[in-house]
Amino acid sequence: MKKIAILGSTGSIGTQTLDVIRANGDIQVLGISAGHNIKKLEEQVREFSPKLVAVWEEDQAAELRIRISDTGTKVVSGMDGLLELAAMPDVEILVTAIVGMIGILPTIEAIKAGKDIALANKETLVTAGHIIMPLAEKHQVRILPVDSEHSAIFQCLQGEERGSVEKLLITASGGPFRGRSGKELEQVTVEDALNHPNWSMGHKITIDSATLVNKGLEVMEARWLFGVDLDHIQVVVQPKSIIHSMVEFTDGAVMAQLGTPDMKLPIQYALYYPERRYLAGERLNFETLTQITFEKPDSNTFRGLPMAMEAARIGGSMPTVFNAANERAVAKFLGREIGFLDIYEIIEGAMEQHQVVRDPDVKQILEAEAGTYDWIESRWHI
Ligand code: NDP
Repeated sequence: MKKIAILGSTGSIGTQTLDVIRANGDIQVLGISAGHNIKKLEEQVREFSPKLVAVWEEDQAAELRIRISDTGTKVVSGMDGLLELAAMPDVEILVTAIVGMIGILPTIEAIKAGKDIALANKETLVTAGHIIMPLAEKHQVRILPVDSEHSAIFQCLQGEERGSVEKLLITASGGPFRGRSGKELEQVTVEDALNHPNWSMGHKITIDSATLVNKGLEVMEARWLFGVDLDHIQVVVQPKSIIHSMVEFTDGAVMAQLGTPDMKLPIQYALYYPERRYLAGERLNFETLTQITFEKPDSNTFRGLPMAMEAARIGGSMPTVFNAANERAVAKFLGREIGFLDIYEIIEGAMEQHQVVRDPDVKQILEAEAGTYDWIESRWHI
């Protein structure tokens, strides 16, 4: 029986990971964790009987300890708790379904302990890809992508020589505001932005899809995961999210992975790689599917993508600033403190004021994150 632990088991990816595990019945969940949702954690403890649960705040951990005192599960808290979970003996795969840069240190801890990583947490590679990938190689662990686009590329690359890759083609739905002008975006609401046409995801990533920041983060992630430079990664808008991404090879052949939009497929592929398993769910129907269309991304209106490319080209600590500024701006937008287009203004301002640190270590990455938050609060506090 495969043994896993999940960082962020109560979120969108975390719960779908548990759906996959429930459907297959042959993976043992040794550890789970969440930020605050102890009600859901209690349900998960009762269903999956993990040995360890990590909760961010100690007072909530204390409450959970009382709630599940009739079980044998140990409850830990804070960063020490996440690190303990990441390095649990016997765990083979750590699923990083936690949101934010808080995922970096536990991922490093798990790699050092020799665990494979089923990686959903984008922030880890975006900000610390230059540390994570060499470390994974040193410890001979696999970084298995969970994001649907990266999983698609990973699937297209099976059996292929990395040297024969010409270009990665990352597909984008274009989000709920595809086709709208900058003027039209001035008045959009949180509800409009959360209404993604194809995918059901956590709130933060859904807003990132609407701004195209998410696609920018995916380009940065792909660059590290597949060792391809930015000039050989192209974003293609494919509104129905049927093609999840493609790879062009040196002979001109293009391989694509297609399917209905269901995150359980990439999650299951990562958990059982290289085995393919049955997965219940809708299939593509080529009798009713009459066309697949493509467009160029509108980078003038959706500035999240060109700003991400700029941050990636500058490199060093700049991707961290891009990511942290976006994270804070999205929280403010979700909290109805700022408008949709202010997200771009905040990211742009944060990038302009930042003094780049070359080849940052984890401490410097976290300092760049904190510095960005401070700068935003000093200028955008409402
Ligand atoms: P959600 O917001 O739905 O879930 C986030 C999870 O992280 C929750 O379990 C949350 O706990 C937990 N968490 C937050 N803060 C802490 C903390 N301080 N300590 C411990 N746990 C914490 O996010 P998603 O599932 O949508 O996304 C997770 C990651 O996967 C992100 O990096 C995202 O970019 C990436 N991703 C998501 C995809 C999707 O389809 N959703 C697709 C591809 C990548 P709590 O519930 O208590 O808040």
